[in-house]
Amino acid sequence: MKSYNLELLKLSGLDFIFKQNIKHPEIPLKTNPDLKIQHLPSNPISTSVSLETLKLKYANCQKCPLHETRTNVVYGDGNPNADIMIIGEGPGAQEDKTGHVFVGPAGQLLTKMLKAINVERQDIYITNIVKCHPPQNRDPFPAERQACLPYLREQINLIKPKIIILLGKVAANTILGQSGVSTLSYYREKEHYFQNITTFVTYHPSALLHNPSYKLPAWHDLQRIQHYLENN
Ligand code: SF4
Repeated sequence: MKSYNLELLKLSGLDFIFKQNIKHPEIPLKTNPDLKIQHLPSNPISTSVSLETLKLKYANCQKCPLHETRTNVVYGDGNPNADIMIIGEGPGAQEDKTGHVFVGPAGQLLTKMLKAINVERQDIYITNIVKCHPPQNRDPFPAERQACLPYLREQINLIKPKIIILLGKVAANTILGQSGVSTLSYYREKEHYFQNITTFVTYHPSALLHNPSYKLPAWHDLQRIQHYLENN
């Protein structure tokens, strides 16, 4: 029980008091000190340029009503040659203001969660289903998600990640789109494929901030992802 509490505290942002690689009491964590993001042999500079071109292409996008209230199109940030691509739901107020993804408390928690499985934030690429902030942080409507989806597909085609991690039910429903699915656990318990890329689903860090009881199952999701990365 003590180790469980340590892991929960670690995910809560108190990792400065822990040594790295705490082992789980029931699910042994095969920590691989050599686990690093392996960069693809494709040309990172050309991928970066292509992403910048795509960014310019929809800097003034008005395909859905979210353009009316946005400050910035929040395109995505990170390593253009990443093996891991993380997809959230939509930009929050701070992201709308700065034009960058996951810069608020949820972003800070995400960084700590990744670090817990030896993944550095600068090695991944992060974006959202919709690139413009939904007012009052509401869920983006299905029509808004569908309008923005082609941009996400183009990002995935350029980055060619080894795995995709979807954060939360809105991202999972949009990408995996299985009708009638109403629970996140349905998605979390399975491995999926999107555009032939292995895809995992876990909680959105905002949900963990609102409901700390989700942190333990989220930690189990992260361990599954780490296990996959170590063995593929
Ligand atoms: S959310 Fe996407 S589709 Fe809608 S205006 Fe913004 S960039 Fe365009």
